[in-house]
Amino acid sequence: MSLYWNHRVKRLAPYIPGEQIRDQRVIKLNTNENPYPPSPKVIEAIQKALGDDLRLYPDPACTELRTVIAQRYGVMPEQVFAGNGSDEVLAFAFAAFFESPVKNRQTLPILFPDITYSFYPVYTRLWDIPFTPVPLAADFSLVIEDYKQAAGGVVIPNPNAPTGQAIPCSDLRSLLAFHEKNRETAAVVLVDEAYTAFGRDLEVTPLVHEYSNLLTVHTLSKAASLAGLRVGFAIGNQELIEGLGRVRDSFNSYTVDRLAQAGARAAILDASYYEAVNRKVIATRNRVSAALKALGYEVIPSQANFIFIRSLQKNGMQLYTFLREQDILVRHFNQLRIADFLRVSIGTDEQMDRVLAACETFSNGT
Ligand SMILES: *Cc1c(COP(=O)(O)O)cnc(C)c1O
Repeated sequence: MSLYWNHRVKRLAPYIPGEQIRDQRVIKLNTNENPYPPSPKVIEAIQKALGDDLRLYPDPACTELRTVIAQRYGVMPEQVFAGNGSDEVLAFAFAAFFESPVKNRQTLPILFPDITYSFYPVYTRLWDIPFTPVPLAADFSLVIEDYKQAAGGVVIPNPNAPTGQAIPCSDLRSLLAFHEKNRETAAVVLVDEAYTAFGRDLEVTPLVHEYSNLLTVHTLSKAASLAGLRVGFAIGNQELIEGLGRVRDSFNSYTVDRLAQAGARAAILDASYYEAVNRKVIATRNRVSAALKALGYEVIPSQANFIFIRSLQKNGMQLYTFLREQDILVRHFNQLRIADFLRVSIGTDEQMDRVLAACETFSNGT
């Protein structure tokens, strides 16, 4: 605590990102990056944008990028918002749609799972938004009925993180219908689609045509192998998109730089490259999941580019430490209910074979 911090900074509880390790020997499976490189067309587009034009500000509206995103999802460009990674888009959405306490008025808390992306509670602190964590079932499945209550908003990642479990679209549709009917609370349902591309038929974005309270948030960091470029976007009703723009333009109008806009546009246009890349990730995930189960590990069924696993013999920290000694870096969350689990990003087949070998040694040694 510093004397100079204001009360806002004092009450923050910042997010702790997974380590960006430099040691080349380490197999880095801790932040769900894609193990395959971005499309060559992305690199080409960035190289083309790399010139004297950098003296000029980028297009604050990201017009060309939003146009290709709109085409890809069958919406109007006015229904698309682009930002500096989906973390920024999420931060803006929390600021734009979720209420902080107002004097003499009841403020309904927003709802999200007790086990989910750990950035959500951070944003609630940042913007002073009351929230109620909704417990997942014992098997980590999400019980949609629990979210059908008066709320200030709902945030659900599909698939969920760090469990990797998917929520059926029909569940999300019934949730949207429930909250859209409740005009008084006007609750926005935010579906974080960071990992949707690794699942099967999970995309709910087409429902923006039916539900004005749906905002889907997307990132190029995982499925498009571009975590280093920092581009994310949101799709929803035009009014929601305008709300995001109001927050951004009260903060920094140029959140997506010229190189990022050019690279992201090329990535969206090269869907076939990424479909092939992500098919490989999915095949590896399924193979590794089955192999770990055969070795006696608990593996939560994943539709994402990571798996959530538990040794039935030893605790989570022991397995984490063992893997780290074998130069394999994964993510451990020291948190109630999940402290015995590790989140393992899906790497290349060669990398995952090293993980399997290490896990086999670990179980044999205990
Ligand atoms: C990785 C992740 C994000 C953040 O993505 P960026 O675009 O890199 O900021 C958002 N939501 C979830 C659930 C994630 O796992």
